[in-house]
Amino acid sequence: MTMTYDPENIFARILRGDIPNKTVAETAHTLAFHDIAPHAPHHVLVIPKGPYVDFADFAAHASVEEITDFHRTAAQICEGLGEGYRTISNSGGHGGQEVPHYHLHILGGRPLGPMLTR
Ligand code: 5GP
Repeated sequence: MTMTYDPENIFARILRGDIPNKTVAETAHTLAFHDIAPHAPHHVLVIPKGPYVDFADFAAHASVEEITDFHRTAAQICEGLGEGYRTISNSGGHGGQEVPHYHLHILGGRPLGPMLTR
């Protein structure tokens, strides 16, 4: 079940310009910016501008234009990471999601090790 969107979450505030960010790419529907606490030399967050809580909310409810724009923007960032990269999207408590606005982490710049510790 999808949570109700909280318009005061930190990424909503970044989108409104209340909080600064280091922008990597911006389009009509998508913003990409550097993570404030990077887990790898390259750690970019890609977010839709619309109010979607997580991956499932975005995939189920966003328009075709928003979904295409989001993925094409993310793909352009990934293309610059020739040695490989990892994309992660956390959701809810079990997923370890801290910010309840859908975002894709793009990580790279070093070997990232196993996907999860067992
Ligand atoms: P989550 O755990 O929700 O998947 O990831 C949230 C990410 O947002 C974390 O990696 C965290 O470092 C990042 N983050 C939290 N607050 C800010 C902020 O104000 N600015 C930026 N650029 N990143 C943030």
